Amino acid sequence: MTGPVSTVCAVSTPLAEGGLAVIRISGSKALECAEKIFRPFGGKKVSEMPGYTCAYGKVTDPASGKVLDDAMLTVFRAPKSYTGEDTAEISCHGGVFITRQILRLCLRNGCTQADRGEFTKRAFLNGKLSLTQAESVMDMISARGEQSLRSARLVREGRLFDRIEGIKKRLVALLGELAAWVDYPEEDLPAVSMEAIDSTLSEAVSQLEKLIRDYDSGMILRRGIDTVIAGKPNVGKSTLMNTLLGYERSIVTDAAGTTRDVIEETARLGEIELKLSDTAGIRDTDDKVEQLGVSLAKKRLSECALVIAVFDTSLPLDSEDRELLRELKELAKPTVIVLNKSDLGAEIDSGEFSGIGARILELSAKNGEGLDELTEAVSELFGTSGFDADSTIFANERQKDCAERALERLMTAKQASASGETLDAVTVLIDSAVARLMELTGEKASEAVVDEVFSKFCVGK
Ligand code: GDP
Repeated sequence: MTGPVSTVCAVSTPLAEGGLAVIRISGSKALECAEKIFRPFGGKKVSEMPGYTCAYGKVTDPASGKVLDDAMLTVFRAPKSYTGEDTAEISCHGGVFITRQILRLCLRNGCTQADRGEFTKRAFLNGKLSLTQAESVMDMISARGEQSLRSARLVREGRLFDRIEGIKKRLVALLGELAAWVDYPEEDLPAVSMEAIDSTLSEAVSQLEKLIRDYDSGMILRRGIDTVIAGKPNVGKSTLMNTLLGYERSIVTDAAGTTRDVIEETARLGEIELKLSDTAGIRDTDDKVEQLGVSLAKKRLSECALVIAVFDTSLPLDSEDRELLRELKELAKPTVIVLNKSDLGAEIDSGEFSGIGARILELSAKNGEGLDELTEAVSELFGTSGFDADSTIFANERQKDCAERALERLMTAKQASASGETLDAVTVLIDSAVARLMELTGEKASEAVVDEVFSKFCVGK
């Protein structure tokens, strides 16, 4: 990867009216450019300003002598800046027009426009940040809640890097031993024991598995579970939905088939957010409007991540219930079977539900009995029970994907070593796993990967 050479500039604050705007210039000619366009009051020279100092002065077009704004200039000297290069930041009045004019002035005086995320990319290329830390900068900017900000901060502090580094170091040490053994058989080196290989690989596998699992659970907590409440008319779907939501949302009536549209809402079940849709039943019907509801319901069932299938426990199962059970069996996705109206006494034969592999529980949507069991069942299904969201370490799919590829190779290496394959073959697999881990932290990321990461940034960061 070649280092950046040009001096770049960009507006680092949003292009909107505000109290202040900041134009950032970074690169070997940053101070030269700043000196051309910024005149400090009191005759100070920008080129003589030490790092971490600022000056008050006028932004002036050297070509015409026209003053654009009064502003503050802050100077950072390499390597002690965000990018690791000489950097100047002009804090001017926050008008869109003024900011654009100053940016143009920079462009006419030796700078080129920075690409998306270019400042952070330079910080990465200059060793100021690891790739995962750079990604966390973006996560901090886009964090919308305390939870996501906290996990972005943990990555920023280097916790992910340290964890991956720990796993990698042990694998590299093992690789060293294997290489010596394979390359210098005549040297009488102590043999690498199969147990040592197996225990190092097992340890790395279980650590990566935990990181991946935590990421998946964290994602569920952050994004919520796309859930469908299914069941024939009148079993209590709307009532259950209203109970989960805590207020009256859908129309509850005694007439079958009243919930014709798909209603979507978000409800909290313990720690988990459910994105709920209460759909019409999936029975055969001649009613055109209802048919539409039924096909929508089927579509939603095939797309969702969790099905809460509701049956009326006070009545025996009928053909419509069995139709739903058949559908569920076919879908084979995480399902909780709710035997509703438990307050009325049971008529249903729960033996009919065997073979679906779903959790079955009794509940009364009307009085809320059994909701705790429902909460527990869902969090068990998604592995979020007892999960500490603070422990989420991966920030995005890219990182998880690298870890998954490393894991896959380590598992194959484990199998290979157990089934007596040559140490050469095992070495190649471990080596490839280490490469994936280095891609994760950015130590060995290809230029394309780095570009892809930074292309998601905004200009000016
Ligand atoms: P949906 O058509 O499946 O959405 O069913 P609704 O939620 O509209 O409920 C149909 C009827 O069953 C209404 O009269 C509800 O009050 C009643 N119902 C729903 N849940 C319960 C429950 O847990 N116990 C009792 N006793 N009645 C319920």
